[in-house]
Amino acid sequence: MCGIVAYIGKRQAYPILIKGLQRLEYRGYDSAGVALLNGAMHVYKKKGKVQELINFAKTQDCEGTLGMGHTRWATHGKPDDINAHPHTSGDGRLTLIHNGIIENYATLKTALMRLGHTFTSQTDTEVLVHLIEELQRREHLPIEEAVRVALTKVVGAYAIVVMDKTEPNKLVAARKASPLVLGIGQDEFFFASDASPIVEYTKKVVYLEDEQIAVAHRNGAYELRNIFKNQIEEPFVQQLNLTIEALEKGGYDSFMLKEIHEQPKTIGDCMRGRLNAEEGWIKLGGLEEYEQRIGNAQRFIIAACGTSWHAGLVAEYLFEELARIPVEVEYASELRYRNPIITDKDVVIAISQSGETADTLAALELAKSQGALIYGIVNVVGSSIARLTHAGSYIHAGPEIGVASTKAFTGQVTLLTMMALSLGYKRGKISKTQYHKLLTEMENLPSKMEQVLKVNEQVKYIASEIKDAPNALYLGRGYNFPVALEGALKLKEISYIHAEGYPAAEMKHGPIALIDENMPVVVICNNKSAYEKIVSNIQEVKARKGIVIAVVTEGDTIIKELADYIIEIPDTEEPFAPLLSVIPLQLLSYHIAVMRNCNVDQPRNLAKSVTVE
Ligand code: GLU
Repeated sequence: MCGIVAYIGKRQAYPILIKGLQRLEYRGYDSAGVALLNGAMHVYKKKGKVQELINFAKTQDCEGTLGMGHTRWATHGKPDDINAHPHTSGDGRLTLIHNGIIENYATLKTALMRLGHTFTSQTDTEVLVHLIEELQRREHLPIEEAVRVALTKVVGAYAIVVMDKTEPNKLVAARKASPLVLGIGQDEFFFASDASPIVEYTKKVVYLEDEQIAVAHRNGAYELRNIFKNQIEEPFVQQLNLTIEALEKGGYDSFMLKEIHEQPKTIGDCMRGRLNAEEGWIKLGGLEEYEQRIGNAQRFIIAACGTSWHAGLVAEYLFEELARIPVEVEYASELRYRNPIITDKDVVIAISQSGETADTLAALELAKSQGALIYGIVNVVGSSIARLTHAGSYIHAGPEIGVASTKAFTGQVTLLTMMALSLGYKRGKISKTQYHKLLTEMENLPSKMEQVLKVNEQVKYIASEIKDAPNALYLGRGYNFPVALEGALKLKEISYIHAEGYPAAEMKHGPIALIDENMPVVVICNNKSAYEKIVSNIQEVKARKGIVIAVVTEGDTIIKELADYIIEIPDTEEPFAPLLSVIPLQLLSYHIAVMRNCNVDQPRNLAKSVTVE
């Protein structure tokens, strides 16, 4: 959510900032801005897409080797040109960009107004730049010290970058609870919300720790300090192995379509080196490290949001069936505010693509403080959740740029499936023969996924038939109930059609009232258990003239007779059903959104990485 990019060095900053902002667009935003220092401070900002900013800046002075850029996702104050970042101090000396929320901004603002400060925007952010200005005026501090002291007075979450017109050889940045990466080049530095704007120039990066402030000097030196302790901290320099190609569309019309098609490869990458059916083992580094404690847990609590929460629901079925460990699946935002009962016998598993989801992070902190072992399942390497947890496993899906999550979901489910199988086997809940059979089938899943992707054209046709429906219903049972939720979420997110996911049998307790000849009902029926039950549910829908689109196992003859449209996918073991059945649903929402002229990669109001609560 929101993007930050900043540069100091010998090159022209503007092209680097613009390209960086474009790479960060996927995170979701509503306005964009840049500030450039070349003797004078130039600030350009525009509501809308980065392209609006480019159009505006065409006729402006964009010189300068020091600069910052920002894509804003409004939390305080409507999205408009004035509220867009960067924000400037009253004396025009400082500019600042910010990702996050200054929670005590109202108190600070009142105090600053009493001191004579006037504000031009409605944002919480502007308060911070005035506070730094006030400290500079009163105490004549160097910029990095004024920023640090100001931050000790701030409550909330932030990643910020600050420039001072009178100190053009320094770039200052800091973070607390919002992500920030420092890129180290040859006599040049970059700051960004994630590594995507940086990799083109350098692979050497430092992920700032929570409560750290950094100052980068034009002469090639940099320093990190703890904001509150005011002590120098040693940087942990990492070498990235992220390629530019991995960040680009690779011939597809959108990142989402590319990511849907990448899934056979990404789930393969997720299993690589971790599962071997022939030799009969699963090895997950994080799991082995805490094997005793995880295997003996009295229960698992899964904390997540959005699509990751759906992956968590699949995991509930997996862990309970295969490993016989009780599971509770929680919305992270509810868990953290509910005064939950968590003990050191619990294992709390956090699922988050970005590893930065604010509510999930906060829920984890709470669980950790209550003694639980915390385990992270994330995609972004080095992210905040990855660093906070005792142990964890990366899903290795590569950068997910489309806002609607696809390959991260299947990556998370793959990882959770491996965890459940490994624990189940070690706990003696799965026989050797069954283990071998399931592992062998898991190895087949990438090629079965390839086969599922062949339904694309057929799904496109179905999309053209139902694209104008104002509502849709998704039904599934057992392992496919979370898939129904996920299918409905995908449709809502990118096509703006109202959709609901339901356990098929629950339909009778409410949603059945909505069914008529205009209601598309997507039924996921590739599970063997409760097959007859789901056939009955389809009958119930048909009796009310609903339009049934059924995802079935190849060769199915019964549902074929009943449904209006059939999508056939390969047979698999029941616990793996979601990994195959979700793909036609991703494709269906994709095609409907394209046909309705929606921006598939950047749906309105949504952000990729939800770093506010
Ligand atoms: N809270 C700030 C604002 O509304 C920053 C939002 C963001 O992270 O983009 O301007």
